[in-house]
Amino acid sequence: METLVRHIRERYLRVEEQVAQSAFEVGRDPKAIRILVVTKTQPLEVVKASIEAGITLFGENYPEEALPKILALQSQPGIEWHMIGHLQSRKARIVVEHFSVMETIDRVEIAEKLNRFAQGANRVLPAMLELNVSGEESKFGLPAWDDQTFTSMLGAIEKVVSLPNLSIKGLMTMPPLFEKMEESRPYFVKLRKIQDSLRKIFPQVCWDELSMGTSADFPVAVQEGATIIRIGTAILGPRRQKTV
Ligand SMILES: *Cc1c(COP(=O)(O)O)cnc(C)c1O
Repeated sequence: METLVRHIRERYLRVEEQVAQSAFEVGRDPKAIRILVVTKTQPLEVVKASIEAGITLFGENYPEEALPKILALQSQPGIEWHMIGHLQSRKARIVVEHFSVMETIDRVEIAEKLNRFAQGANRVLPAMLELNVSGEESKFGLPAWDDQTFTSMLGAIEKVVSLPNLSIKGLMTMPPLFEKMEESRPYFVKLRKIQDSLRKIFPQVCWDELSMGTSADFPVAVQEGATIIRIGTAILGPRRQKTV
């Protein structure tokens, strides 16, 4: 256990250093970037070790996989769980009841369902819109890969931002997987430009958060304005098994 904590700590610090370096290169304050540690497929022991290593921000892709971990660690103060995967409607209640932030609003229906459950639970759920900025069919997210798709999606965004029990905080994206991190850059730039547009179109909404960048490309994401980077393997090592 102790070696595990030390390993996680060392790798976390290394990522933190790289974040600081990338932020410095473009004149950003490193404190404006949060490292979210992705624990999908990782057992409870690894999450516990991560907490011992000082990590408090976690992300999971599947509510039913996350729930036992979240419940087991409920007594730990200051832990924040973000939902970062495609959410099936019938799992929406778990997210409203047990997650801090829903990062992956990728369709109006799921937003409405979350809003309804949040109303029932008497809470306002912080949330982000997941955008598909690549046009890859396998990717989830509201379509935003060119001007035309972006424009035709604005009605959907208008509906989502008007839901009273969701509080929109910004945007999230997952670009295609590339060999070189530099290839992700255009997609991060695109997300930031869309953020600019949305600030003008919906000035009443807070668009500050940009959740982008993984182990493979976070230095570039930081250079392009990420406020949350989502890191799994670079901190926790290889994933354990296939998720459900
Ligand atoms: C798994 C996952 C990550 C982390 O990927 P790594 O390559 O392990 O850093 C980030 N974001 C999402 C949406 C994921 O599903």
